[in-house]
Amino acid sequence: MIRLKDISIRNKLIGIQVFTSVLVLAIFSIVFIANELESYRKRKIDDTVSLAGVVGSNVISTLTFDDGDAAREILETLRHVSPEILYAGIVDKNGKVFAGYSGATNQATNIQYVLGNDTVRYYRDQLYLKTSILDQNKRIGTVLLLVDLVDLAEMKKSTIRTAFILLFAALILAFMIAIIVQTTITHRLTKLVSAMQEVSRAGNYDVVVADDGKDEISTLTQGFNQFNQQIKANLHKKDEFIGIASHELKTPLTSIKGYLELLKSMEDRPGHLRLVEKAGKNVVKLENLIRDLLDVSKIQGGQLELNCSEFDLVELIEEIIAALQPVFPNREITHNSDSKSTLIYADRQRIEQVLINLLSNAMKYSPVESKVEVASSFNKTGVLVKVRDFGVGITPSEQSKIFERFYRAKDASIHIAGFGLGLYICKDIVSRHEGKIWVESNDKGSTFFFTLPQAGLV
Ligand code: ADP
Repeated sequence: MIRLKDISIRNKLIGIQVFTSVLVLAIFSIVFIANELESYRKRKIDDTVSLAGVVGSNVISTLTFDDGDAAREILETLRHVSPEILYAGIVDKNGKVFAGYSGATNQATNIQYVLGNDTVRYYRDQLYLKTSILDQNKRIGTVLLLVDLVDLAEMKKSTIRTAFILLFAALILAFMIAIIVQTTITHRLTKLVSAMQEVSRAGNYDVVVADDGKDEISTLTQGFNQFNQQIKANLHKKDEFIGIASHELKTPLTSIKGYLELLKSMEDRPGHLRLVEKAGKNVVKLENLIRDLLDVSKIQGGQLELNCSEFDLVELIEEIIAALQPVFPNREITHNSDSKSTLIYADRQRIEQVLINLLSNAMKYSPVESKVEVASSFNKTGVLVKVRDFGVGITPSEQSKIFERFYRAKDASIHIAGFGLGLYICKDIVSRHEGKIWVESNDKGSTFFFTLPQAGLV
C-alpha cells in the first residue's frame, strides 16, 4: 500500500491544490444549481397562480349563470395557449366539477386529493394548484390546475451536465496551474536535495545553494549552507591540528631513529640487537603514518606540490622490488615491461610512494606465499602500470570507495592494520600528474592500475 509519506512533496502539493480547487468549484456548482432550480420553480408557481387568477375571473359569469359550455370553451382556449397545462378544471362551491378539460374526468378529484389542504404542491415534476374564485368576496368556486414541469427536469439535467463539463475543465486547468506552481516550489527543494546528496556522496562541503527568498525553503537552504561552512571550518581545524601534530611528532621520531641506529652499531649482545631492530621497525611504522598524515593535510590544504624530473620508471620499479624482496623472502615479486624506452617526466619520489603503497597493499591483503605481479607498458600517449595480487579481493560496492579518505574495506581490514590513507594519497598524486588510478577485483585477487601521461617528456 502506498503511504502518504512515500509520495513526493511535489505530487502531494499538486494533489492538494487540485482537490481543493475542484471541491470549492463543486460546492459552488451545487449551490448555484439548487438556487437556479428553486427560483425557476418559484417563477413557475407565481405564473401558474396568476394564470389561475385570470381563469378564475373569466369564469365568474359562467358560474353565476351556470353556463358550463362557456366555461369549457374558456378552458379549451387555455389548452391551446399553454400546452404544459395538463388539466384545468372548475369546481363549484359545493365541490362538484363544473367544467374541465375533456377526456380527463378523474383529474379534478385527483388534484384535490394530492393537494389536500394545500393550495400549491410540487409532486413528481408536476405542479398541483387550486385558487378560489371570488365574487364580491364570496367564494363561488375553485380553479384547479395541473401543470407539467417537464422542462424543469430537462433544465435540471442540462445544468448538471454543464456543471460536470465545467468541473472537468476546471480539474484540467487546476492540474496545469498546480504543476506550474509546484514546479517552481519543488524545484528549489530538489536543488537542495541534490546538493545534500552531492555532499554526502563526495564529501564536498564547498557546495553552496543559492536562494534569496524569505520562505521556509530559503531558511532551510541557508541552514544547509551554514551547516556546510561549519563542517568545512571544523574539518579545516582538524586538518590543521593533524598537520601541526605530525610535524611535532616527526622531529623526536627522527632523533629516536638516529639513536636506535647508533645503538645497533654499538650493541654486541644478540638479544639486545633483536630488541633494537624491533624498536626500529615500529619507528618506521610510526614514520610512515606521520608521513601519510602530513600528506593528507597537504592535500587538504592544496599544498601537495610536485617536483617533476625525467627518470626511468622501469629502473624505479626494479629498485623498489629489489628493496622489498628481502623484507618478504617468501614472496615471488615479478615485473614485466614491454618497452625499452621507459623514461617518464614526473615526481620520482611521489611515484615511488604510489608504487610502494600498491605493492605493500598487494602483500598485506594476500596470503604470505602468493605471487605479486607488476607490469608496465609504454606508448606514445602514456604509461600504464599494473600491480596484481592473488589475495582477498575487494567487493564491487567497495571498489570505488577505497580511494576515499579513511575508508577501509570491511572484510579485508578486520585483522590487518591500516588507516585507509594510502590509496587516497595515491589517487591525489596520480591525479596531479593528470593520470588515472583504478582497481579491478574479484574473490581471486585484485589488480590496481594507474596511468601517467607522457606529456612534458623531453
Ligand atoms: P590501508 O591499507 O592502510 O587500510 P589504503 O588506502 O592503502 O589503506 O587501502 C584502503 C583499503 O582498500 C584497505 O583498507 C583495504 O580494505 C583495501 N585494499 C587496498 N589494497 C587492497 C588489495 N590489494 N587487496 C584487497 N584490498 C585492498
